Amino acid sequence: MRTDTQKGEFAMQQTNDNIIELRNITKTFEDGFEAVKDFNLTVKRGEFVTFLGPSGCGKTTTLRMIAGFDTPSQGQILLNGKEIENLPPNKRPINTVFQRYALFPHLNVYDNIAFGLKLKKLPKSEINKKVNKALEMVDLEGFEERKIATLSGGQQQRIAIARALVNEPEILLLDEPLGALDLKMRKEMQLELKNMHEKLGITFIYVTHDQEEALTMSDKIVVMSEGQTQQVGTPEDIYNEPKNAFVADFIGESNIFGGIMTGDKLVRFCGADFKCLDEVEQGTMIDAVVRPEDIVITEPQKGMITGKVISQVFKGVHYEITVMSGKNEIVIQTTKKAKVGEQVGLVIEPDGIHVMLAEHTLNKIESGFDTNGSLSFMDGRLGINITSILPGIRKEEEGLYVDSHGDEIDISKLKVTISIRPNDIQMSDDKEAGQLQGHIINLIYKGDHYSYVVRTVDDFDIIVDDEDLWNMDDFVSLILDEQKMQFTLKK
Ligand code: ADP
Ligand code: MG
Repeated sequence: MRTDTQKGEFAMQQTNDNIIELRNITKTFEDGFEAVKDFNLTVKRGEFVTFLGPSGCGKTTTLRMIAGFDTPSQGQILLNGKEIENLPPNKRPINTVFQRYALFPHLNVYDNIAFGLKLKKLPKSEINKKVNKALEMVDLEGFEERKIATLSGGQQQRIAIARALVNEPEILLLDEPLGALDLKMRKEMQLELKNMHEKLGITFIYVTHDQEEALTMSDKIVVMSEGQTQQVGTPEDIYNEPKNAFVADFIGESNIFGGIMTGDKLVRFCGADFKCLDEVEQGTMIDAVVRPEDIVITEPQKGMITGKVISQVFKGVHYEITVMSGKNEIVIQTTKKAKVGEQVGLVIEPDGIHVMLAEHTLNKIESGFDTNGSLSFMDGRLGINITSILPGIRKEEEGLYVDSHGDEIDISKLKVTISIRPNDIQMSDDKEAGQLQGHIINLIYKGDHYSYVVRTVDDFDIIVDDEDLWNMDDFVSLILDEQKMQFTLKK
């Protein structure tokens, strides 16, 4: 039976469960660039948490703020429940392992690991004990005298880990620590790190852009894009229930089809109705995510949809087969072979379909009026005047307007939201063709078209649907169909 003191201890452990908390963290660099935006996260003691996202999404910046090398512009970082913004890195019980080993090439293994301890002026015998223990943890006992240059990449990285562990940190930060290793070595080190984490019981915060690495190693994954959290969850959550198209696309291979709910747990995409498990209101526009391994190839007459095999690639254990069904390109993984050119049927079971609410179905652009009553968006080139948005409004004189009741209106205070659907915008490589210009910063394939994010030179992010494949970073001109725009007025 549990005694009262035991219960008390248990309760205390519970409240101290979170070792690190990030609250509304934003990082704006001197040049004005916002690398991390309103980032929230709690890390439990002993947890293995991974920041996963493409290069440039703010992973290192977030890690550096936890380590204390960078200060957040806004928000709080709590360590064991206490704010630590003003605590310098060496006062935090945190050590970092970087992608580049950053070992001292002229020192031997022992001196590399002992370096920090010697600075702290610890007694020799204690240094000895700690270095030996650290070497034991990374399985490199007996390597004390070796020169760094004689070690393999994997061994060097283990020394770098030993050097971080020798300080007995509560938290180990690892920033793409295996990035410089070859594939085989990386796989080995992944397992070793995971074992080390289990053995040591300390908290690991790990950074990678490799989704497979994140899925195999972590207790909790934080998927990031453009400085923001997209989803936080267990590897299973994130793989099986991606919260949006970015996560689905980033985590593993997946088919994403634009569709609509046509009934109770009934969803329509690729020109057919499918039973699904998600309850979403009829008529809602959705994105359906279907993993390639959840599609079964069968005879045409037995398929829920049919299509033609356009390619087949052997991937070691399975074949990756691409089927064209109408305008939809569908990727399938199966152990059975197909023939290119063959007509096939495809079956997808309800639990193989994951329904997400379609995001960004509308672009919303905030704008206002200039003194002439023209929309100030795009230097007034849009040709939309206030009289077409506010019927009955009259211009009395420059800047002074009267509404249909004869009341004066200060039009500089009016705000207009311009809404336009992604498929009412065309992309062109002719710079002069459209009203806006920008770079493609993201693209996701959605079965029969690509969904692009274009960041304009004025820093608007515009979502564009296009059937053609453009490249990341392409500079494009956007042709917005003015007839399809909707305007909402806010006072
Ligand atoms: P990741 O580690 O996810 O690849 P980083 O956190 O290193 O990304 O960088 C995020 C973004 O912040 C990048 O666009 C990068 O160019 C920018 N950035 C990083 N450090 C600075 C800095 N000191 N000044 C301005 N921008 C920076
Ligand atoms: Mg980085």
